[in-house]
Parts: sequence; structure tokens; C-alpha cells
Amino acid sequence: MYRRSIKTRVRLESSLSLIVATLIFGMFAITDYYLLGLSREYYLLIAMRSVVVGLCLFLALIIARRGSYSRIWLHAMPLWILATGIILIVPLRPESLSTQITAVVVATMAFYLLIPNLLTVVTFASLYLSIGFLISAVLFAELAPVDTLRLALLLVMTNVVGFCALLRLESLQRKQFALLHEARDKNRQLLKEIAHRKSLEEQLRMVAERDALTGLNSRSHFMKRAKALLQNSRSEKVPFSLFMIDVDHFKSINDTWGHSHGDWVLARVSEVCTHALRPTDVIGRFGGEEFVVALPDTGPDDALIVAERLKTKVAELPLMEEMSEMRLSVTIGIAIAHDEDVDLQALISRADESLYVGKRDGRNRVVICRQGMEEG
Ligand code: GH3
Ligand code: MG
Ligand code: MG
Repeated sequence: MYRRSIKTRVRLESSLSLIVATLIFGMFAITDYYLLGLSREYYLLIAMRSVVVGLCLFLALIIARRGSYSRIWLHAMPLWILATGIILIVPLRPESLSTQITAVVVATMAFYLLIPNLLTVVTFASLYLSIGFLISAVLFAELAPVDTLRLALLLVMTNVVGFCALLRLESLQRKQFALLHEARDKNRQLLKEIAHRKSLEEQLRMVAERDALTGLNSRSHFMKRAKALLQNSRSEKVPFSLFMIDVDHFKSINDTWGHSHGDWVLARVSEVCTHALRPTDVIGRFGGEEFVVALPDTGPDDALIVAERLKTKVAELPLMEEMSEMRLSVTIGIAIAHDEDVDLQALISRADESLYVGKRDGRNRVVICRQGMEEG
């Protein structure tokens, strides 16, 4: 997973490092000229450098486009070509060995540190460079045994330091990746959990605020909203009306056609009422077949008009075929809050009293409570 995550980076960084190293290798042709002049060795070196630069640039382009862990040889090849180029300088320029030793040390460190996440490839290429350079130095630069030992020690140290540095870097990067991955996983789980909790919260809110059968405000939620509306009306000194609506002879619907038909009637009545009210009015299911409506900024005249309209709409409600004989009706009790300091509970009691009067007087009617109002 880690290798997959750095695939593109490895491709681009390998290619870029290779291009830079190749160009530096090519630029040393200037040093060749100062050391050798226009000699046979100089032309051989130029030819060798051109071949190495050409091949490596070509491979760098291929790595940039198609380099992957499955094509390890593609990453290894340019390193071996570069190493061969560096080794071949010795027989052609044996007198400048000390400069070349510095170049070999720098090249080895560059192999280890600049080629990302390819420890094995880099190690073999560096060893090849060190051993090849050492043999070449012994054979062509006639290195004394003590100097050979010194050079060998230097190259061993360079390889050990480079290898350890890269090993440590790679293991740190892997650990970092594992931690990042773990954190991402936890984050994802956390987000899932938050979304789940939010949906649960929403469901809980729905259950608490909505009546399951009719979708109207639950009694408790209605009370909360109506209280706020009443408070508002009081502070703005505008009238406030409250309806208590009760379906007439509802029990007989249940008894005759069953509870499912009763439920269906309740749902239709609640729909009709909702549509007949203004958006500012608030309706709730008070319990059983009773509904309650809060009408802000509504005086007795308007309240009567609205209640009559509701009553008519319910009476006109198209019923199921088997219920066509039945006359559906509601009785509505109205209470009005004027300037006087009346609380919601008292207003509900008044509307209830009106409703009771309406039931007593024969149902299917609207009754308004005159208490607390000036007659007229
Ligand atoms: P009235 O005209 O005096 O109001 O008579 P009523 O039959 O409507 O009144 P009553 O209070 O005697 O009966 C109300 C019935 O409503 C009793 C109860 O079984 C029924 N009921 C209450 N809640 C529900 C409900 O959610 N679904 C159904 N189908 N019936 C319900
Ligand atoms: Mg009732
Ligand atoms: Mg009833």
C-alpha cells in the first residue's frame, strides 16, 4: 500500500535525480578538456560520456512514464550505466584519481539518498561502482597497496553510511505512512459515527416532535411552539386564537369499520385542516381524535371564519366507498386571548369548554368562548 501510494513520486523523483546526475556527468567533459586537451583520450572520453548521457536520459524519460516496482531493472540499468561511465574514466584519466575518488564518493551518496525507496537496486549499483572503481584504480592508476586499502576503507564507509541512512529513511517513511493510514482510518470511522449519530438525532427529534400517524406536531411540541406564539402575540398586543377540534362520533367509525379505517379518517382530517390553515398557524394532534390549532394575530371574527371553513372542508372530505353513507363532522371549540394575561393552559381549558358546549348542543358546530372578551 505504501509503495502504491508513492508510485508516482518514485517515478518522477528517480527520473529527475537521474537527469541531474547524467547532466553533471556530461559536464565533466569540460574538466576532461582542461586535463587532456584535444587528445585521443579526450575524444574517447567524450564519446563514452555521450553514450552514457544519451542512454541515461533516454532511460530517465522511460522511467518518468512507465517506471514501477515491477520493472526494477529499468531503475537499475541507468545506475549501472552511470557507474560504468565513472569506472571507465580511470583508464583514460589515471592521473586525476584523487578528483575521481571524490566524484565516486559523491555519486555513491547520491545513489543512496536521491533514488527513493529502491534500497536493493541502489545497494547493488553502489557496490558495483565501488568495486569496479577500486579494481580500475589498482589496474590503471597503479595504486600502492596502502592507498588501495585506504581507498577500499573509504568506499566501504561510504557504502555503509549511505546504506544505513537510506534504510533508516525508508523505515521511518513506512512508519509515518502506517501512522497516517491509521489516522485516516480512524478519521473515516469517526465521520461515519458522526453521520450515524446525526441521523439518530434527527430520528429522535422526529419521534419527539411529530405524531407518527398524522405527521402533525406532537402534543408536547405543539405546546412549545404555541407558547412562543402566544408570548409573541402578547408582546405585539395582537389577538391570539386557539381551536380544539374533535371528530364527532369517531368511536362508531372504529366500531363499524375497524381501527385502520379510523386511522385513515384521522390522517385525512389532519391533511384537510393543515391545508385550510395559514402557514403561520400551528396545528398539533392533542390526543386520540382531537386536534389543536394556534392562530396568531387572529381575532374572534377571523377565527370563526377559519373554523367554519375547516368544518365545511371536513364535511366535504371524500371518504372510502364503504363509508359513503357516513356523514363525517367535527366540533370546534374556540378560545381567544385578548390583551389580558392568559396562559396557554387556561386558553386550552376555555377552548375545551367551548368544545364541550358544542358536543352538548348536538355536535357539527363551531362554538366560541366569550369569557375574557368584551361582548359584541
Ligand atoms: P364524540 O362525538 O363525543 O367526540 O364521540 P367520539 O366517539 O368521537 O368520542 P370518544 O372519546 O367516545 O371516542 C374516541 C375514540 O377514538 C376512542 C378511541 O378508541 C379512538 N381513538 C383514539 N386514538 C385513536 C387512533 O389513533 N386511531 C384510531 N383508529 N382510533 C383512535
Ligand atoms: Mg374526543
Ligand atoms: Mg370525538
